[in-house]
Amino acid sequence: MQIDLDEFRRVGYRAVDLVADYLESLPERAVQPPIVPGSVRAQLPGAAPEAPESWDAILADVESVLLPALSNWQSPGWFAYFPATSAPPAIIGELLSAGFAQQGMLWATSPACTELETQVMDWLAELCDLPGKFRSSGPGGGVIQDSASSGSLVALIAARERIRRRHADVPLERLVAYTSSQTHSSLVKDARIAGFGHIREVDVDDKFAMRPDSLALAMTEDRANGLVPTFVCATIGTTSSGAFDPVRAIATIAERERVWCHVDAAWAGAAGMLPEHRVLFDGLDLVDSYLWNPHKWLMVNFDCTAFWIADRRELVETLSIVPAYLRNAASANDDVIDYRDWQVPLGRRFRALKLWLTLRAFGAEALRTHVREHIELAAELDAWIANDPRFEIVAPRSLALVCFAHRGGDEATQRLVDALNATGRVYLGTTQLRDRLVVRVAIGSPYPVAERVGELRSLIDHLA
Ligand SMILES: *Cc1c(COP(=O)(O)O)cnc(C)c1O
Repeated sequence: MQIDLDEFRRVGYRAVDLVADYLESLPERAVQPPIVPGSVRAQLPGAAPEAPESWDAILADVESVLLPALSNWQSPGWFAYFPATSAPPAIIGELLSAGFAQQGMLWATSPACTELETQVMDWLAELCDLPGKFRSSGPGGGVIQDSASSGSLVALIAARERIRRRHADVPLERLVAYTSSQTHSSLVKDARIAGFGHIREVDVDDKFAMRPDSLALAMTEDRANGLVPTFVCATIGTTSSGAFDPVRAIATIAERERVWCHVDAAWAGAAGMLPEHRVLFDGLDLVDSYLWNPHKWLMVNFDCTAFWIADRRELVETLSIVPAYLRNAASANDDVIDYRDWQVPLGRRFRALKLWLTLRAFGAEALRTHVREHIELAAELDAWIANDPRFEIVAPRSLALVCFAHRGGDEATQRLVDALNATGRVYLGTTQLRDRLVVRVAIGSPYPVAERVGELRSLIDHLA
């Protein structure tokens, strides 16, 4: 194999131009272009080429085949799901990461990857004012997981093993994980993978937050039936409506019942950097694990889940297996962190780079302003919708998420969403709250979003 680095320089600059042109064109692009299934594959040959192709031909296909079929998640008109954004610092971080090709499973297989990750996770803990136990100087620490789904899985497995250390012979079928009807579906999947016998949905209140009294009652009932309460997940910012479970009350019950308390703030965690919203995060000092996704709102492209554990020994004791081919002096001396013991896969990407570059190149104040602006825009939109008799706000506005419905009923709501999305200027999703179809508006683009929220308002006014 002959690697041509001069060609890499030439094509690399062109690729950066291509990405910059794409980002520049975002405001003009249809947010979610209408593509019929199979139309992308129909433009691609059935087999890989035997001979090298020219970069001119390859980049031409990127532009003509792929760009028109992208879902433009970073578009200022993207209001669906939750934001999944990026920006130049993270893009450059990914370029460096790919170029360096590190495998950060052990400290010894990449000291740079391991130590930068520890430091950046401590920085992020400081920016979010997390309790001392989550810092690397305390009993716990932070790690970057590939997704919130994986982070929650690791927490469930550690919780399961904590119980099994206490009662060696307890059958997995008797373990119970508690969620609410609003908890993210990944927790259910994770609990299945981890072998929990029961997943119990706790009632929510009129704001869609988990009811601590119902949680306590469920645990008492389950114990009376011979089951073993093992794990509870509280959510700060649920996916459907952005509801905030009362973390302190839930964690207090969990502590009393000796149950693992995990907190999923996948989307809302970015707002933990804002002192004025810290009250939503009250109670983290009592929980066993906590995570949020800089890959949602913080302009660090997927994958980057910030996960903290209160006692890192519980992870390491649960997940550490040391075959002969991974033995090394630094690990044996216990001088270092080996992050492979903190996650499911062995291999690990140098994800800390993109987070480090994002924090350094923007600085914390600009990141706080980014999040704050979206929250203010959502507050204005919420007030405008609430004032219009055609609409109803179905759940209290949560940070930068607004949930509303047409008073004309589900059909009118669906018609409005379809008409809005057909404009190509905005893209919104729906959910169901108390058997009603609801429109979700999640604001989060780093590109000129204020004007587009204004445009969304006129479109809603026009099309309703
Ligand atoms: C997005 C989201 C998840 C899933 O995140 P991944 O990183 O894609 O696994 C989990 N929980 C909540 C509350 C979310 O909003």
